[in-house]
Amino acid sequence: MTGDDWETTPFPEFTEQQVAAIVKRSPVADVIGEHTSITAQADGTFAGVCPFCSGLRSLHAVPETGRWQCYSCLECGDVIVFICKMRDLWRADAIQWLEHRMASRSAPAVPARLKSEEPPYNVQGTAPENTL
Ligand SMILES: [Zn+2]
Repeated sequence: MTGDDWETTPFPEFTEQQVAAIVKRSPVADVIGEHTSITAQADGTFAGVCPFCSGLRSLHAVPETGRWQCYSCLECGDVIVFICKMRDLWRADAIQWLEHRMASRSAPAVPARLKSEEPPYNVQGTAPENTL
């Protein structure tokens, strides 16, 4: 991992409470929507392109449970697992990434500088970047 604007400690440790707080403030549909194209469904879930197998509308995210699943390649998990797979990170680093994301979102105004310094995608066939 090079060129990232976020800092990682060698052995990040999070308590269960910290992880729960980070996950709570990292809505699964928001985080996935920043990496691939998903749209809201009538039933409140989200469906879209799976970034792992490129299956059209095979990825489903359920905000209520905070989980996602691809009906094509059968990848599934929570928001932490998604970031682990998407950015090729260990779990603790994925939690740190989400924490960084959360911190930059909760700032009064996100400087343009931060936006342009988003960590690069490190998977092939990158999804188009969603501008919110
Ligand atoms: Zn898939």
